[in-house]
Amino acid sequence: MTPQTMAPIMPPVAETIAQAGHLLKSGFLVGLPTETVYGLAGDATSDQAVARIFAAKGRPSFNPLIAHVADPAEATRLAEVSPLAARLIAAFWPGPLTLVLPRRADCPVSLLASAGLDTIALRCPAHPVARAVIRAAGVPLAAPSANPSGRLSPTTARDVAEAFPAEKVALVVDGGETPVGVESTIVGLFGEKAVMLRPGGLARGAIEAVTGPLGDAGDDHDAPQSPGRLLSHYAPGLPVRLDATRVGPDEALLAFGAEVPPGAFAVENLSPEGDLTAAAAHLFAMLRRLDRSGAKGIAVMPIPAEGLGEAIRDRLSRAAAPRGEAA
Ligand code: AMP
Ligand code: MG
Repeated sequence: MTPQTMAPIMPPVAETIAQAGHLLKSGFLVGLPTETVYGLAGDATSDQAVARIFAAKGRPSFNPLIAHVADPAEATRLAEVSPLAARLIAAFWPGPLTLVLPRRADCPVSLLASAGLDTIALRCPAHPVARAVIRAAGVPLAAPSANPSGRLSPTTARDVAEAFPAEKVALVVDGGETPVGVESTIVGLFGEKAVMLRPGGLARGAIEAVTGPLGDAGDDHDAPQSPGRLLSHYAPGLPVRLDATRVGPDEALLAFGAEVPPGAFAVENLSPEGDLTAAAAHLFAMLRRLDRSGAKGIAVMPIPAEGLGEAIRDRLSRAAAPRGEAA
């Protein structure tokens, strides 16, 4: 990439922080330093911004993203914070600990960021530049590592700028080299039960001093297990039929594009314009509405397997898999 097309790098001064906040509020993506690695940040409450993150990273499937908050107290606005969760927050935030908690019914974070799940992953990072940018944006930020899928995690602003052109990442805030390239530890809290979902920058022993022995992903059949298994947790209650070109009168239709077959019980259109990023942004909310529509099944029109279409098709084919096999 030539210097003209690379995402611009700016020093972490007050004007840059304000500009980053403004860009994020307007739906653009910003590269920002955290204490783990550089994150590719977008407004976590905007389906469109979250879809742009997946599109920029080129991920073939949607995995849920961590919502980053500037202040520990923010957690109670987004999630159900149990007494045990509150103790972990008091002990370790800000810092490299992510908590997976039940979403509050009025949680403003995009369902796409939660990959359609009823839970949300939250973290308050310790890096002062990250927190300043979150405060300037005034919204929680989804911020997976700022690397294209399958490439090395970025530890400098230059890594981010070289990986993404300016059309994809509006600005990279330079916070120098990130201290340690280790990801955050992820702990899931299901009732008063705490489960280690991913080892990371905060040691198990420190967490267990607060929680007692952590469950392991895999040793308890009641708790959702590894993050991978959790991804299959949300499937619509109704049967799903893919690549439908016609629709029955008792079926709900998840449409895509301008030419929609008539006669459905209910219709939601992922994108009448045929825009796959817009379709990704709408996917989970529309699936949920159709699931509650009173129809007997959900028919899904063909979605092209290019760009985010690959991830959309991946998610829908899991939803369409026979129940119990939707792994
Ligand atoms: P990162 O790539 O560091 O942003 O971490 C994202 C990872 O957090 C995902 O790949 C999942 O493993 C995990 N995660 C995020 N949200 C959830 C959730 N609601 N349930 C379980 N795991 C989650
Ligand atoms: Mg990563």
